[in-house]
Amino acid sequence: EIKSVDDSYFGSYSSFGIHREMLGDKVRTDAYRDALLGNRSLMDGATVLDVGCGTGILSLFAAKAGASKVIAVDGSAKMCSVATQVAKSNGLLYDENACMEQKRSPQVISVVHTKAEELNNKIIIPPNGFDVLVSEWMGYCLLFESMLSSVIYARDHFLKPGGAILPDTATILGAGFGRGGTSLPFWENVYGFDMSCIGKEVTASSARFPVVDILASQDVVTDTAVLHSFDLATMKQSDMDFTASLELKLSSSGAAVPGVTWCHGIVLWFDTGFTNRFCKDKPVVLSTSPFSTPTHWSQTIFTFEEPIAMTSEGSVVGSSASVGTAGCPAVAIRCRVSIVRASQHRSIDISIETTGIS
Ligand code: SAH
Repeated sequence: EIKSVDDSYFGSYSSFGIHREMLGDKVRTDAYRDALLGNRSLMDGATVLDVGCGTGILSLFAAKAGASKVIAVDGSAKMCSVATQVAKSNGLLYDENACMEQKRSPQVISVVHTKAEELNNKIIIPPNGFDVLVSEWMGYCLLFESMLSSVIYARDHFLKPGGAILPDTATILGAGFGRGGTSLPFWENVYGFDMSCIGKEVTASSARFPVVDILASQDVVTDTAVLHSFDLATMKQSDMDFTASLELKLSSSGAAVPGVTWCHGIVLWFDTGFTNRFCKDKPVVLSTSPFSTPTHWSQTIFTFEEPIAMTSEGSVVGSSASVGTAGCPAVAIRCRVSIVRASQHRSIDISIETTGIS
């Protein structure tokens, strides 16, 4: 069963559209380029393992940055043959004969078709492990697809003690969003006709399934809360499952709106960091926040079944109405978010529960 899931997973990475989307995501690809090419003191002469090389872009950056050896690994046979051709066309593919002639060769990339977990069956790992592990493993809401577990496995088995993992931090963040973050305004006025009955059905169904979409920054109505931070150099597989409690209050911009502000749900996103722990010359942050330039990850949007009325602190009016309704807006929404790997390999279960409003 696991095998067939893997087959369809690697199959999905064998078409070029997805690689075109990733390479064309300038925020993403610039971040990796800057981290690799901007940190020569880390990369110069380093042995590098690229986990999930795809087209080989990260290996190409690593080679250009002065790596002495790059092993590019992918579970997709198609992408391995493509990465090999690309490295070769750019004069960066390892070639035994050419290496005999030149003392220091830029031809440092070798592509290995394997699941990262089985790399030691295919090549001889450098005696102390690789100096640098680089991977672009992030999925929607950071953890969807759970490729992170392969990266942790590769770190534990193939990276030298104290070696650099790029990126080395990842953080999941969240905030409450207003009506503009739902499709209600769209359906309310379609060429002058009221189709809000459709809008209600659409939001009701998105209360059960998250929606991956761009959320405009002006639709964020609460402060940002950190759900969870991962230290990729030290985290364990089991750390991928977690529960976070957050308290959301209206942000100053949201509070500036007079009267009641409705919170329609919670938007999640992530940042990853190439921090100065390893990237001393040039630390880099890759953010997928609604306040940053959009990426192909967009944001992940969870709509409440019922919106919650909010107000800024200190302006709560005494009322017999229940908290969170227009008559008695809430100052804070507390919720518990848990993210666990689903029994179906590579997907995740996310539950968001409001544990209190006051
Ligand atoms: N590094 C490339 C591609 C990233 S997409 C880039 O930045 O553009 C992730 C790639 O990892 C896919 O090509 C997928 O086939 C591969 N992959 C995912 N899990 C893997 C694993 N366990 N072992 C080897 N390759 C894996």
